[in-house]
Amino acid sequence: MEKTAFITGAGRGIGRQIAIRLAEDGFDCALNDLNENDLAESKALIEALGRKCMVYKADVSSSAEVEEMVKQIHADFGRIDVLVNNAGITRDGLLMRMKEEDWDNVLRINLKSVYNCSKSVSKIMMKQKSGRIISIASVVGIMGNAGQCNYSASKAGIIGFTKSLAKELASRGIRANAVAPGYVQTPMTEKLPQEAKDKLAAQIPLGYLGTPEHIASCVSFLAGKDSEYITGQVISVDGGMAM
Ligand code: NAP
Repeated sequence: MEKTAFITGAGRGIGRQIAIRLAEDGFDCALNDLNENDLAESKALIEALGRKCMVYKADVSSSAEVEEMVKQIHADFGRIDVLVNNAGITRDGLLMRMKEEDWDNVLRINLKSVYNCSKSVSKIMMKQKSGRIISIASVVGIMGNAGQCNYSASKAGIIGFTKSLAKELASRGIRANAVAPGYVQTPMTEKLPQEAKDKLAAQIPLGYLGTPEHIASCVSFLAGKDSEYITGQVISVDGGMAM
């Protein structure tokens, strides 16, 4: 039987690398993003690995768009074995200067999206009596970070959500886990001021920045059979930042 993975925010960065790794593991891939050109590039990379790949442009913070997209993915692939909630944004600033729209957008795109996608996909997984839901949190959801009250609240929210979901769905054969990356080199972190980058890098015990491949390896483990007795966990992949 073909296995299907659905990855949000898979047009670039960590999401694209997760898709590549899961395709290497033998998954067909349903990829979501907002940017059609990025999606087309990711699709070509997955197809070059010999896996089926279809792309879905949708805003994961919209419950209506997610419901429609998940319906279409189910029609196109027949099943969804793995959901990776990866799409996310930052709108950094100290709380005193943080605009309400920056709070709302980060919570909507980073956290409500996880509710939207997990809710729609878990209906399908419950009928299958199996599935894995893997959400990308962050080290700052555990440790906090000045200038990221909105982002760290959204990522801490993902951690609480994951633990509750794991308890709700365990008896249905569905596992839910989170990965908490540290400081990973992607377009998201490229735009940080150099001072913030240096400060983050200085906090990494292993002494070097993470790559999207480091995160994708952990997702691959959580998506596969070797992690069958693991649910409700948050695995930090951060060079030792949070310990
Ligand atoms: P990235 O390079 O900015 O990629 C994020 C992707 O998500 C982009 O392709 C973006 O599309 C997409 N996206 C944004 N809003 C969306 C929406 N409403 N609906 C659908 N797709 C949307 O970021 P990244 O560094 O790979 O981060 C991926 C995940 O890892 C995020 O959840 C992030 O918070 C988390 N993370 C990253 C780091 C790090 O150091 N990089 C550390 C900890 C956690 P557009 O380009 O069209 O906006």
